[in-house]
Amino acid sequence: MQKILIANRGEIALRIMRSLHRMGIRTVAIYSEADRESPHVRFADEAVCVGPPPSAQSYLQGKTIIQKAKELGVDGIHPGYGFLSENAAFAKAVTEAGITFIGPSPTAIEIMGSKLAAKEAVKTYDIPMVPGIDEAVTDVNKAKEIAAEIGYPILIKASAGGGGKGMRVVEKVADLEEQMQRAISEAQSAFGDGSVFIEKYISSPRHIEIQVLADSHGNTLHLFERECSIQRRHQKVVEEAPSSILTPKVREAMGWDAVKVAQACNYLGAGTVEFLIDSDLNYYFLEMNTRLQVEHPVTELITGLDLVEWQVRIARGEAFSFRQEDLQIRGHALELRVYAEDPLNNFLPDIGKLSVYEAPKGPGIRVDDGYQAGMDIPIYYDPMLAKLITYAENRPAAIARMLDAIEQFRIDGVRTTLPFGQFVCRHPAFLSGDFDTNFVKKHFRPEAIEEIDRKEAEVAALLALHWFENNREQIQLPNTVSSEWWNNR
Ligand code: ADP
Repeated sequence: MQKILIANRGEIALRIMRSLHRMGIRTVAIYSEADRESPHVRFADEAVCVGPPPSAQSYLQGKTIIQKAKELGVDGIHPGYGFLSENAAFAKAVTEAGITFIGPSPTAIEIMGSKLAAKEAVKTYDIPMVPGIDEAVTDVNKAKEIAAEIGYPILIKASAGGGGKGMRVVEKVADLEEQMQRAISEAQSAFGDGSVFIEKYISSPRHIEIQVLADSHGNTLHLFERECSIQRRHQKVVEEAPSSILTPKVREAMGWDAVKVAQACNYLGAGTVEFLIDSDLNYYFLEMNTRLQVEHPVTELITGLDLVEWQVRIARGEAFSFRQEDLQIRGHALELRVYAEDPLNNFLPDIGKLSVYEAPKGPGIRVDDGYQAGMDIPIYYDPMLAKLITYAENRPAAIARMLDAIEQFRIDGVRTTLPFGQFVCRHPAFLSGDFDTNFVKKHFRPEAIEEIDRKEAEVAALLALHWFENNREQIQLPNTVSSEWWNNR
């Protein structure tokens, strides 16, 4: 492949282009009218506008994107994550246009894109599953029967679900009907498919996922786990690798089960098999994501492999140059998703202009971003500004590095999840590794961030006062003040 179009925007488009650039492959960016000046557009060798700001009219316009790719002589399309990355029809149309889709087959995307079809596909492979039913349910009385059998609390889930949407916890039978109607209508409006099913709600699980990689020569490997239990609204905010609770034995068992899940759909390329795990280290298959994950950098840092490079090499037909036994976990990596969200206000998206944006730099710090100072945060897309990733020889050192990096990160103009990251990295439950997906509900109070802000302001004021006392003699106020300053004071 000589020229690859990246059917995405922001940090992931840039991150993909960086690897392609290093591999000597030309890059084509797509952009909506809202992203005309974005860094991913400027970094690319060529760039093409695909429509107005709303994603439905631009980044989701598969036909337009393929048309532009053909016009520009592109021979591969990388979909990134989100947008069209898990759209089987798009993958098929790309292939039919004579362009390589950098990802799995449309069939694999289709099977794993439906949580129910995925359960069906892995059924014969003896993979532990969350107790529940494996078919859609529409009748409330039937749902009540199933729930009684499984035992409350239960979770109603959208089969086509993603992004935590269409998911409802039901504690007791009296709430079932209402929650079921809500889940159905949410699934219908978000995914155009109202099928829902029922799972046992695991009360205090951890979310642990396995990165898999499959080449076209029959080799499927796993690249160990990522711990993604620090979530809000069932969505990840802090991820790390390796997990602090897995034993080598459980790691190996989960790894091989993930490989089996990938084999169940003849997987090709990079994918992620998600599991829930309880405090006794019993794990259950949740779903498979058939694309690069947001949190893939932590795996890259502990394995030393560039996942985007391998996606391209696999798509080119190359075989792995290593075996499972050659892979090793080295050190510890942590990722904080820096969202333009207000942790003091229920993590609601915050919009505005980035008046200040200075990312931290230094050994063991990686920032994957797509913004710079002066840019407006478009309301049309996901509010993630950057991924702050740290790497060190062990977990405490990676956490210390994260705290240092958060302190160096300067963002003004919008509220972000940076102070939340600080809260997590200082919390005893996180430090000891004793946490689950309820971390935010259990431990986080907005006042904790206000308290940190207040203490830091106090320390800053004391330092300033101390400095002033020590330097009183040397301080001279300017004796000439320019008229410009005076007029603008
Ligand atoms: P989505 O595809 O919408 O992201 P997932 O099935 O991947 O949905 O689940 C997202 C998160 O929801 C999980 O990481 C976990 O926190 C929670 N979750 C999902 N299923 C269960 C369950 N059966 N019991 C408890 N929590 C669950």
